Formats: sequence, C-alpha cells, structure tokens
Amino acid sequence: MNSIVNIFKLNVKNIYGIFMAERDRNLVLIALGGNAFQSREDKGTPEDYWRNAFIAAKTVVRVVRDGYRVVITHGNGPQVGIISEWMENLKHKIPPQTLDIAGAMTQGWLGYLLAQSIQNTLVEEKLVDRVRGVVAIVNRVAVRKDDPAWSNPTKFIGSWYTDASEVEKLSKEKGWTFKKDPRGGWRRVVPSPNPYRNVEAEVVKTLLREGWIVVASGGGGIPVAEELGGRLVGVEAVIDKDLASEVLATELGAAHFVILTDVDGVYVNFGREDKRKLINITASELEEYYKQGHFPPGSMGPKVLAGIRFVRNGGLRAAIGHLHEGYEVIRGTKGTQIVPS
Ligand code: ADP
Ligand code: MG
Repeated sequence: MNSIVNIFKLNVKNIYGIFMAERDRNLVLIALGGNAFQSREDKGTPEDYWRNAFIAAKTVVRVVRDGYRVVITHGNGPQVGIISEWMENLKHKIPPQTLDIAGAMTQGWLGYLLAQSIQNTLVEEKLVDRVRGVVAIVNRVAVRKDDPAWSNPTKFIGSWYTDASEVEKLSKEKGWTFKKDPRGGWRRVVPSPNPYRNVEAEVVKTLLREGWIVVASGGGGIPVAEELGGRLVGVEAVIDKDLASEVLATELGAAHFVILTDVDGVYVNFGREDKRKLINITASELEEYYKQGHFPPGSMGPKVLAGIRFVRNGGLRAAIGHLHEGYEVIRGTKGTQIVPS
C-alpha cells in the first residue's frame, strides 16, 4: 500500500519550484509514443519512419502556428529493442554496446527524423520565420541507484524467445532476466527506474527562450546515476518516457503536458464491453481509478501517473489522446483532459 501512496507524491526536488514558478501558458510539452514512428502495420522501413515523423510534425507545426512554444519528447521501446537485437546477432563480429549507449543511439535516430520533418513542414507552411530552428539534443536523465526497480525489471525489450533452454542459457551467460510477455513467449526485461531530474533541463530552457523548437528526453532519456561529488554514470535501464516527460515539463514550468499515443483517451474497464472513456477528470478521481487497477504498468499506467504528477506539481492541464487527433487533444477538445485537485 505504501508504495502505491508514494508514487503519487510530489517530486521532492521540485517542491520549491512548484509554488514559486508561474506556469508558462504558451509552453506545451508533447510526448510521442513509439507508434508515432512504427505503427503495428508498418515493417519499419526508413520510408515508414519518415512518413510517420511527418504526421507528428504536422501537428507540431499547427500548434506553432497558434503561437505556442513546443518541446517534443518521444518513446523508443521498439527502436532500443531493434538495436539490442542487432548487437546480439553481431556480437561475434562487433562488441555489443551497453543499454545506455543503445538509448543514446535512438535519440540520434528519432531526433534526426523529427527535427528534419518539423523543419521541412515549417518551410512548406511558410512558417520558418516563427522559430529560430529545430534541434534534437542528446539528453541524460537521472535515476537513483537504490530504486526498487533495479530488483524488479519490468520493461520488455528485444526479441521473443520460445525455447526455455535457450532462455536459461542466455540468463546464465549474460545475467539477463526474462519474463513471459503477455503476447506470448519469453522476452528480456530491463529495469525501469523512476526518473527524478533532467540533466539538460537548463539547456532546454535556454534554447526555448532563444526561440528553438526542442526535441529532448528521447526514449525517456539516457539513464544515468549520480555519484557522490556529482559524477554521472550510465546505467543499464530504459526509463519510461511518460514519467521522464513529466519531470521535464515540470522543470520547464510548462502549463500543458500532452501525451499522444494510439488510443483516443483513457478508459475505465478497458478491453471490456462496459468500457468508458474519461473525458474531463480531476487528478484525485483518476488516482482512485488507478488504485482500482484500470491502467496496467508498461502502457496506460505510467501515462496516467505522469498526468497526475504533472497537475499535482503545478501544471494547468495534462492530456492523453490519439496521435491522429493530436491537434484537438492539445487544444483540449479531444482525448482525456486531466485537471488539478
Ligand atoms: P506508447 O507507445 O504510446 O507509449 P503504450 O503501448 O505504452 O503506447 O500505451 C498505449 C496502450 O495502452 C494502448 O494501445 C492501449 O491498448 C493500452 N491501454 C491499456 N489500458 C488502457 C486503458 N485503461 N485505457 C486506454 N488504453 C489502455
Ligand atoms: Mg509506452
């Protein structure tokens, strides 16, 4: 029970900022789901990636046209899995890299796609003069070495294995942990520790002030642990991008935090006939549904948790909705809108 209560608590580090800082009503942080780049129907070719990046870019540019300043974050579940698989398959030829490095690679990959698509859409729509430019940053996010997530890995990455003896061999050889994926087979799971600080938050603030559109905290950010004296050390984990996006949105003092995914809102009784979409809801009401178990870990759970934390930390509004209705979700007319108290 304790752990459930604690997860809704304010981020201690932000407490002073919360009450003192005025929220910036013109600033919106938009978090894009993994499906923004590779939908279920896509093979994942470069053409697929470009097409999907342009869909996301259209929404971003409409919001810029309305006068908002924008920070974009994105997931990397499928992509970090692909890189791990490449490394695994080529390990006899090329030494595999660690998971924090793989996360950094996905920031370059997806950051490039987004920066270029947004830039070119601004050109097409004759809006380049509205902004200084678009930039994607390599971005680290701090996690704690004593996080309980280290002993309970939950994040599925990489290939599916069906042969139990191979799974056993790999766990012995590599020290990897495997869990049964609800979709079938065994899959490697990695820890997903709670993010508490975006290392480059000040850089993002400066870039925004100077008029840049910023792509940051890709894949939840590169996970680093802070050691005594301030040294940072990369750790083998994949941070949840929704929780990391909340940390950044709060640190930036954004008024609006929007999560775009492949479902048109948050439902109670999801997957059942009596499912019901939540349209306007307070954080406290949503917390009740969370405690009742309507939102599973690894999918809707962290989105809802991130939305609750954002408004509790002083944000005006969090929203969760479909990427294809992105503009309306951002303007508050579609999706699930979460408000304080
Ligand atoms: P993303 O890549 O955007 O982070 P996720 O797969 O992590 O997407 O989360 C979105 C998924 O959450 C949806 O596709 C939906 O199937 C699932 N989901 C689980 N529970 C719910 C719920 N209560 N309401 C809406 N969607 C839910
Ligand atoms: Mg997700």
